Amino acid sequence: MAPGIPHQLMADAALVEELAGVAKDAALLHGVQMRTQESPNSSELVTYAPFTLFPSPVPRGAFQQALAVQVHYNTLVDRISQDADFLQAALASTVGVDAFTARLFKIHQQVLEEGTAQPVVLGLNRSDYMLDQKSSGPPAVKQVEINTFAASFGGLASRMPDVHRHILKVAGRLEDSGRILDNGSAGGLAKAIATAWELYGSERAVVMFLVEDRQRNIFDQRCLENQLWSRNIPTKRRTFGDVSKTGFLNPDKKLFVGGQEVAVVYFRNGYMPQNYQSEEAWEARLLMERSLAVKCPDIRTHLAGTKKVQQVLAQPGVLEKFFPEQAGVAEQIRATFAGLYTLDLGPEGDRSVDLALAAPDNFVLKPQREGGGNNLYGADLLRVLQEVKGSEERLAYILMEKITPAPVHNILLRRDAPLTVSACLCELGVFGAYVRKGADVVMNECVGHLLRTKSSEHADGGVAAGVAVLDDPLLF
Ligand code: ADP
Ligand code: MG
Ligand code: MG
Repeated sequence: MAPGIPHQLMADAALVEELAGVAKDAALLHGVQMRTQESPNSSELVTYAPFTLFPSPVPRGAFQQALAVQVHYNTLVDRISQDADFLQAALASTVGVDAFTARLFKIHQQVLEEGTAQPVVLGLNRSDYMLDQKSSGPPAVKQVEINTFAASFGGLASRMPDVHRHILKVAGRLEDSGRILDNGSAGGLAKAIATAWELYGSERAVVMFLVEDRQRNIFDQRCLENQLWSRNIPTKRRTFGDVSKTGFLNPDKKLFVGGQEVAVVYFRNGYMPQNYQSEEAWEARLLMERSLAVKCPDIRTHLAGTKKVQQVLAQPGVLEKFFPEQAGVAEQIRATFAGLYTLDLGPEGDRSVDLALAAPDNFVLKPQREGGGNNLYGADLLRVLQEVKGSEERLAYILMEKITPAPVHNILLRRDAPLTVSACLCELGVFGAYVRKGADVVMNECVGHLLRTKSSEHADGGVAAGVAVLDDPLLF
C-alpha cells in the first residue's frame, strides 16, 4: 500500500463521521457541486459532487512525468488533426462498421471539401493515466486514453485542493495539508478559450457552450463561464435544439445562434450517439463545423481523439513521423503507452484475438465510444470477442492491455452512501490547452490535473457515470 493517510485514521468511525460532515460542507462552500439526478435543470436542488474524504497518494515522479509530456500530447493531437491522409488511413476500417464514427467522418470530409473557414484552432484535452505496478523500475504512468472532446471536471478540480486542505487540518494533519498542490485547470482552460475569442476578433460575439439537455454538471462549466465573464467575454449556453431552431450562417459563414454572433463553440455535448436525437442535431453539428466560429474541438480534432487513432499511434514508427524535428519527444510520449493491439482483419489482428482469448483478464476490449461504461472486461470481453472474431464486426473495437494500478484505501463520499473504507484505484488526468492560428502556435500549455478515484470493484466508468469521485493527489 502506498504511503498516504494512515489506515488507523480511516478506521476511526466517530472521527470519519465528523470529518465527512465537515468535508461535505467544505465542498459546498468551495463550489464542488452538482445538480441532482431528480432535478438536473434547476439549481434549487444541488448537492456536492462526489469526492474522496482524503487525498490519495501519488508518486511524485509519475505525476511529473504526466505533466511534462502534456505539451507534446497537445502538439501530437494538433498535428494529427491536420493530417487528413493519416486520419483517413487510421479510421478506414472503423468507419466501415461503426455508424457513429462514420457519421463524424462524413462531416469531416464535407468540411475538407468545402475548405476550413477558420484558421484559429482551440484544443482543450485531458490525457488520462493509471500507474502501472507491473512495470519494473519506478512507477510509470500509462495512458488510458486522451479526451479531445468535452473533457470535463477542469472547473471543479480547481476547487478541490481547498476542500482537502481543510479536511486534513481538521483531521489534525497540518503537514499533509501543506502538501496538496494548487490546481489551475479552470483558469488555464478559460485562458485558452479567451485567447481564441480574442483572435476571432469581434467584441460582441459570444463563446457558446454547447450543452446537454440534462445539465447536472453545470457548475463545472460555470467555473469556466465565470472566468470568461471576469475577462469581459460574453458566454451563452445553447443546446443542439437551440442551434437547429435559430442557427444560421451569413454569407461570410459567420455563425449566428439566438440572434448572436458566435466566436467560439465549446462543445460539452455531442460525443455520444444518443446526443444526436434527430437528423436536425446532426445538421446543427455540420452547420457549426462549416462556420467561421472557432470550434473546440473541430471535427478533425474530435476524430484525432478516437480510440482507434490511439491504437494506430502505438504501431512502430507512427509517432516518430509526427515529430521529425524533435528526436526525444516521440520516445517521451511512447513511454506512456500501454499495450495497444489492432483487430484489423489479417494475421496481426488474428494474433490480437488469440492473445485476448488466451488471457481475457489481461485486456480491455474498447469500442469507439466515450463517457464511460462502454468497454468490455473478463467474461464480457470473452463472449463478445468470440462473437465478432470471425467477422468485420471486430473492426469496431481495439484491444488494450489492462493496466493494473496498486490499490489505495479511501472513503468515497457520495449522496446517501455509507462511510466505508474501500480499496480504490486512481486515474490521473492532465489538462492540456493550445491555440494555433494558421502556422503560429499561440499557446501550448499543461494547465492542471484531475485525480479521479473509484472503488476497485468497478472496472469502468468516470465521475459523470456515477462510478468515480473527485480526488486530489498527495505526492510522495
Ligand atoms: P471513456 O472514453 O469511456 O472514458 P476509457 O478508455 O477512459 O473510456 O475507459 C473508461 C474507464 O475504464 C477508465 O476510466 C478506466 O477506469 C477503465 N479502463 C479503460 N482502459 C483501461 C485499461 N487499459 N486498463 C485498466 N482500466 C481501463
Ligand atoms: Mg474518453
Ligand atoms: Mg475515460
